[in-house]
Amino acid sequence: MRQAGKIAAAARQLAGDMVTAGVTTKQIDKAVHDFIISSGAVPTFFNYNGFPASICASVNEQVIHGIPNDRPLQEGDIVSVDVGATKDGYVGDCAATFVVGKGGREAERLIAVTKQSFFEGIKFAREGFRISDISHAIQSYVEANGFSVVREYVGHGIGTQMHEPPEVPNFGNPGHGVRIVRGMALAVEPMVNQGGAAIKVLNDRWTVVTLDGKLSAHYENTILVTDGEPEILTTTGDV
Ligand code: MG
Repeated sequence: MRQAGKIAAAARQLAGDMVTAGVTTKQIDKAVHDFIISSGAVPTFFNYNGFPASICASVNEQVIHGIPNDRPLQEGDIVSVDVGATKDGYVGDCAATFVVGKGGREAERLIAVTKQSFFEGIKFAREGFRISDISHAIQSYVEANGFSVVREYVGHGIGTQMHEPPEVPNFGNPGHGVRIVRGMALAVEPMVNQGGAAIKVLNDRWTVVTLDGKLSAHYENTILVTDGEPEILTTTGDV
């Protein structure tokens, strides 16, 4: 899983480096697809339940599951890239939101809060806590900063399959859910809306957007529960 995580994280980084004005998300998808293949891995998302690409690229009010397309990115857009790599049968899954050029102050703050909420959550990804302790920490941090968490989509266990039990919601009261034990691998992934928490799915049956049309950001890593600090598996090594 460390190998899969390293490839997924490098793919996320490649995508982030490509996020510039004039580039299309389809071009980013192609580059990421080729990179994962050349790394000896398989793009986990490609054909997953029929998904037509190797990354999800969700722009501005799109929350998750955006399908890469031919629209050139514009200065100030924010792009959430979610990517998975399967290496020797094990999966790494990660995401981050990137700004095209310089974003507005609220966009930058939304992205920073979303990322930090992940780190607030994984403080509880240790033996002795329960899954909803992670959930509660994420929700509390996000809401204290004036944003909202999406309820309909959640983090998950991960291993030989991308989505395994248990679910890891980004909301809830502490002290519930399965006990966290060493050796568990989890994909923790706050999806944070600038406005209200409500979402809808577009007619393409994939793209999830905010109901109020405001911005949304996403941050995800695959982590391993150890006997101490959780280990982030989706890292290129210098994060
Ligand atoms: Mg995930």
